[in-house]
Formats: sequence, structure tokens, C-alpha cells
Amino acid sequence: MGELLYCGKKYYEPDWRAQQALVSAGIYSFRYYPKDRLVVVTDATVKELGAKKVYDPMPAAMKDHLIMTEDAAQCTDLFQKVDRGEKRVAANLRRRSDHALMHVTITTTDWDEEGKPESAIGIIELPEDEETVSAELVRALSDDYHSIYYIDFDKNEVVPYRLSKDIEKEYGTFFRSKPEYGAAMGGYISQTVQQEDREGMLHACSVTNLREHFAENRVYVHDFRAVRNGKVTYCRMKAVNLSADGELHKAIFGFSDISLEKTRELERYAYVDPVTGGDNYVYFKQKLERKTKKGFIVSMDIHSFKVVNSVCGTTKGDEILREIWKCILNNIGENDLAAHINADHYIIFYEDTDRAKVSERLEMLTIQLGKRSVELNVPQQLPYFGVSAWEPDNKIEQIYNEANIARHEVKERKDVNHAFFCQADATRILQEKQMEDAFEVSIRNHRFEVWYQPKYNPESEQLVGAEALVRWRTTDGTLVSPGVFVPLFERNGMIRYLDEYVFRTVCMQQKQWLDQGGTVIPISVNLSRASLYFQNVVERYRKIASDEGINPSYVPIEITETAALDDQSIRELASRFYEAGFPLHIDDFGAGYSSFSTLNIMHFDTLKIDKSLIDYIGNYGGDRLLEHTIALAKDLGMHVTAEGVENETQVAFLKNLNCDSIQGYYYSKPLPLEEFAEKMAG
Ligand code: C2E
Ligand code: MG
Ligand code: MG
Repeated sequence: MGELLYCGKKYYEPDWRAQQALVSAGIYSFRYYPKDRLVVVTDATVKELGAKKVYDPMPAAMKDHLIMTEDAAQCTDLFQKVDRGEKRVAANLRRRSDHALMHVTITTTDWDEEGKPESAIGIIELPEDEETVSAELVRALSDDYHSIYYIDFDKNEVVPYRLSKDIEKEYGTFFRSKPEYGAAMGGYISQTVQQEDREGMLHACSVTNLREHFAENRVYVHDFRAVRNGKVTYCRMKAVNLSADGELHKAIFGFSDISLEKTRELERYAYVDPVTGGDNYVYFKQKLERKTKKGFIVSMDIHSFKVVNSVCGTTKGDEILREIWKCILNNIGENDLAAHINADHYIIFYEDTDRAKVSERLEMLTIQLGKRSVELNVPQQLPYFGVSAWEPDNKIEQIYNEANIARHEVKERKDVNHAFFCQADATRILQEKQMEDAFEVSIRNHRFEVWYQPKYNPESEQLVGAEALVRWRTTDGTLVSPGVFVPLFERNGMIRYLDEYVFRTVCMQQKQWLDQGGTVIPISVNLSRASLYFQNVVERYRKIASDEGINPSYVPIEITETAALDDQSIRELASRFYEAGFPLHIDDFGAGYSSFSTLNIMHFDTLKIDKSLIDYIGNYGGDRLLEHTIALAKDLGMHVTAEGVENETQVAFLKNLNCDSIQGYYYSKPLPLEEFAEKMAG
């Protein structure tokens, strides 16, 4: 290895023996220095091809000497491509002296700080000469090989052709001393190759292994890790056999740093979602952490995606997940982020502080998903979203969790499909979770209390009945009203246990009063819609009443109007309750969507008019409505109970309409057992 001085500057000159080795393989090399417009040809090339040592200025110089005039334009073009920054260019040019075809490849190997090409390796092959070897070799040498060695196995010698800066610094003198192959490799492996990879590398470089390999292939590649100054780099060794007969005599070894490639490959595994091929959550978080602007994190889910998987199969399911992903990518801007989390869950980050815009984007995404489902002829993909505001330094997990909370809130809703997180929701959800957790123990420990609200006949002012209303006594003694927990237990299905508990308690209480020989009045209990769907509910209630020795007529059942309206199965249940002897009350009539057709359902014996209608008393329309409702109910043979009656005017009005009973604060609030018992006795 040496250098050539030209116009006071130093240019690179490979070792003479390495040059000869290349020539023996049909390779003629040169270097091109784009900035100096200079080509320096190796001495061996000068000798073999009859080339000049230096061509200056390029490309004019070479075309006037070595290349046929007809190919001059092509030659010029080749060098200009390198000047313009193309990394690797090739052309077939004919030699001026004998018109022989020369395959010229130029590969840029060094760039300046601005990325302008500084130095390139040129390879000239004469295809007639050892075609196969040279083709491989060209590839081997032009592929970014930082260090290249010529190895003569017969002489057991290593000759460096080109050394990288690192190797030059560390091993320069050593390699120039033409070390033995074994010693050279051994030294390098024990000093530079990472411990774990040493054995593999020793095997890879062993003459036995190479010989075995070269018997079938001309090129052998082995990757390993090197450690320099404590830093690990991924390296690739490529050995090209120069001996055409499959034996091992002479070979070229190239070494390159493939860390960048390798890191990308590893990154792919670490950051790519296996289903969509897009970013995964890990990568999403990493990218979001680098953000300096505020935005919103969106948690996205698809309604009943399970159906797709079970009906269409998981392969189709994955395909749809990829389509959803494409829709998401179309929906986000260049500053936004998105990732597939798992199953049908996705996360999006919108770098936007305008809630309305985020809502708009989510609506767009919903529409696009709908369209795409139609195009693909798959079940409608209906997404729903939870959104929470994120700003730099926020914990991503926490904000994502908030977005999830908001998403759960919106899952059952029909009117909207996205919601923004608010702290009040979170507090409520936490509270609900605590209530759910406390439910079973509370049932066991009788922490649910039954209170009784009397019903009076306004004519006689007599106590004629009561409604059982549940309350929850918490461990600290406070009383929680059913408005807080009943909706929750209705949602999660626990209400049926509570309803049954209240029912049994009332039955036992009635039995006790019966046994004491006092008067017993009907005490109605509430049966939630969720309890109605409870298997064998009629049979269970009938059995409880009979086990406790109570006639069902003492424990009427209240069903809310909306529940009563719902469907055929409730009509059937109503008739079965009736057959079992339970009087049925329509509860909350007039609250929500009232319908007179409810009154026409068979087997309801009492209509309970909701407080919201009672509150209209004194208002002309309200009065007429009540008049007609009560008249109609009476016409159909029903009893009428007015709920939420609070003042004398209301009582007088209802009395006038022959309302059968009144339940309200005017007479009494719901009472704990002892107080109610006193009222009964008194
Ligand atoms: P509901 O069945 O319509 O019960 C009547 C509600 O109106 C009771 O509220 C009662 O305290 C209230 N109320 C009665 N008179 C007046 C009045 O003059 N003024 C005012 N402002 N309110 C009055 P409560 O006890 O809070 O119960 C609320 C709801 O919780 C009940 O409405 C019922 O739907 C449900 N609930 C209570 N206990 C149970 C139960 O054991 N099972 C089921 N499924 N639901 C129950
Ligand atoms: Mg009720
Ligand atoms: Mg009611």
C-alpha cells in the first residue's frame, strides 16, 4: 500500500501484490477523485491494459485515450453521474486499441462533510476474462467494503488492499508486515471480535470451512460483532474465492460495518407491529416522548370485532385490521402518530389542541371505515373512541389510561362514538369499582337495608300499603341511596341478587308480622329489568314466597314502565307472575317516554304515576293529562297509586280523581323498619 504524489497532493495506491491479485482475477482498478477531476490507475492496470497512470482532467482525458470515440459520450455520462452523487454506476465501454468490451463500475467510497463525493473505486473488467469470478468480485469490492485483503493460501499470506481508518490505526503496521493468515485472523478475532462471536468467527475463517464452502459457492458471508473502545459494531465479512476450480488458493476478503443496517433490522423487530407492519406501541411511546407540542391521545376500539374473527376467521380478521390501519394512516397528518396496540385496539396522537377538530377527524375516520367495510364486503366496522389531552412531560400510560376510561364510557352509547376524558368520570368509575368490590360482602353482612315508604288512601287517610326501598349502609355508617348504586348494579347484572335479597327480606318481615297476628298490608318490591331476564325469575320468586310461608298477594312486584313496554317476553313474564299470584305494578308511569299502550298490557293491576306527572298539578295541561290517565286506568280496571306527592293541593286534586293510594313525603318519607312498624301498629 502506498500513495502517489500528483500536483503536490497525495493519492491512494494499493499494495502491488494486491493489484496483481486483482489483475489475475481479470480486475483492473482505478480511483476517481471527483473534486480534483482526476483518475489514478493502479500500476498493474497500466501494465496490463495499456492505460495511462493519471487521467486529468476527467472525463475528457480518458475518453481521448482509452475509450473508443463512439463511446465517449457514455463515458462522460458515467463520470458525471458520480459527480452528481450517484453511489454506484456502471457502463460497457469499448477499448480504443482493440474494441474489446470493458465493463466499468465506479463506486463512491468517501464523501466530505457536506455529502459531496470525494473518492471512488473504479473497476474495469474484460468480460472475456474469467467472467464469473470478476462479476462476483466487483460486487464484493464495490459493496461498501471498508477493509479489503488479498489472501494467498498457498503462501499463507495476507496482503491488505485497502484498510479502514480504524483498522489502519490499530493493525496498520501489523498487516503491512504480511502476516500469516492464521496469525492475522487469530489476532484480529481475539482482540476485536466480541467474546460471544469469537468461536463462530474462528470456525468461519478456518481453512476447512472455507474449503468446504468454496467447493460449492464462490462467495462466503459471515456476520459478527466487533468491539472497539467498548462500542459494539455489527460487521460483515465477505470472502470471494479467486480460484476458479473450487479449490482454495487465493481469495479476497472484504470487511464492512453493517451496524446501521443491523440496527434498522433490530428496530424493525422491536418497533414494528406484526399484524399491520406499522408502528407498535413501544415505538409510538418513543416518538411521543420526543414531541414538544400538546395534543390529544385517542384510544380506539371496534364494536363487536370478535364477530369478524369468529365468522370470517382470523386471517380475514387480520386483513381487516390492516385495512383499519390504512384508514387510520390516511386520517392522520404528518405530525400525528398512530400504532396498533393489540386485537382491535389502536392508539392515535393528534398534535392539535382544538377539541372540535379532533372530533371532526374522528367522525371522518368513522365514515371512512364505514365506506371501506362496504367496499370490502365485510361486517360494518364501527369504531368508538376515548380521548384525553396530552402535553409534553405527561406520563403517556396515564393519559392513555384516561382515554381508555373515556372510551369505556362511550361504548354503550348510541348517540355518539367518542368522548373526552373528564376527572369526574374517573372518580365515578373508581367509586363504582369500589362498590362492585364491596357488593358481595355487603349482601352477606346485611349492609343493604330495606326501608319502607307507606302508601295512604287519601279518602280514608288509612295506611294501605308500602313500597320496599333499598339503602346501602357503608362501613362508616353513612347511608347510600339507590340512585347511586342501582344503575351500576343494573349494568353489571348484580341487581338480580340485590332484588332477590330485598324480596326475601320483605317476605320474612311480612311472615313475622303475620305470625305476630297483626294486620298485614301489601309491601311492593322493585324488580329491575336486568332481574327480569334472570332465568326462572318467576319460579324463584314463587319458591321464596312459599318457603317463607307468604302469600304472593302480600308482595306485589313493581316493574318500570320502560321495562314493561319492552318486548314480548316481558308480556309473557307478566302473565306468569300473575298466574303465580303476584300483583304487578307499572312503576314510574309518566317518567321518560310514556305510552298509554302500556296500560293495555294484561295482568298489571296497579298504575304508579311518577312524581314528574304529579309535579304538573296546577298546570292546565298537566291536570288534564292526569285526569285522563287516571280515568283510563280505572276504566281498564286498574288501581292507581300516585308517587312523589308532597303537598295538600296535590292530595286534594288526586283525591278528587279517586286516586286509590298516595305515596309521598306529604304522608311519609321512606322509613327504617322500626319506625315503619310503629306506624303500622299505631
Ligand atoms: P321508585 O321505585 O320509583 O321509588 C320511589 C322513589 O321516589 C324512592 O326513591 C322514594 O324515596 C322517592 N319518593 C317517594 N315519595 C317522594 C316525594 O314525595 N318526593 C320525592 N322527592 N321523592 C319521593 P329512592 O328510595 O331513592 O329510590 C329510587 C329508585 O331506586 C326507586 O324508584 C327504584 O327505581 C330504585 N330502587 C329502590 N330500591 C330498589 C330495589 O330494591 N330494587 C330495584 N331494582 N330498584 C330499587
Ligand atoms: Mg318502585
Ligand atoms: Mg316509581
